[in-house]
Amino acid sequence: MLQFTVIPVTPLSQNSTLIWDDETSDAILTDVGGDIEVLLEAINHYQVNLRGIWLTHGHFDHVGGVADLCKTHNVPVLGPNEEDIFLLDKLPQIAAQYGMSAGKFMPTRFLQDNDCLSIGKYEFRVLHIPGHTPGSVVYYCEEAKLLIAGDVLFLESIGRSDFPRSDGEALLNGIRNKIFVLPDDIRVVTGHGALTTVGHEKQCNPFFLNQ
Ligand SMILES: [Zn+2]
Repeated sequence: MLQFTVIPVTPLSQNSTLIWDDETSDAILTDVGGDIEVLLEAINHYQVNLRGIWLTHGHFDHVGGVADLCKTHNVPVLGPNEEDIFLLDKLPQIAAQYGMSAGKFMPTRFLQDNDCLSIGKYEFRVLHIPGHTPGSVVYYCEEAKLLIAGDVLFLESIGRSDFPRSDGEALLNGIRNKIFVLPDDIRVVTGHGALTTVGHEKQCNPFFLNQ
């Protein structure tokens, strides 16, 4: 089975997620924002083999720990879409503005809409959903009914679109056209706070009611 555990990191309680195939013990971490020792503890606890880091977007609370983690785990860093390079370029400076430190890195590979990635025998599809940031991607596994949404979609809310190069209209359209077309019972790991499902958001998300 595909297993996952959500690990809130940084003072912003950003949801890093350890995901693994329990037959092969192959694992990845999403959005390595910081608190590396907590993430390493989880890898040890579940006795999995870290094979990669997948990033949803370039905000410092989602990527601030990547350089540190790669010092002990030299694994490929995948994502986000290259449109977020402008955030990664200035990562140490942006993190410092929030009183945090983040080492600079560049992903091994940027991702495009419809790219396919895998964890053990489970396939994930990459969906590029700009709006919160221009390079935001989400990761969808149909078989395990799991969506890693980053800051695109939250429980009864959506990502902020008041940052430079954000686009509120694109965000709404992306959620409508790429997430709300998925089955209702898909579990959604959001970037901060509680998990939700596609069905719950289609019914209850106030940003999409009466439209
Ligand atoms: Zn963000």
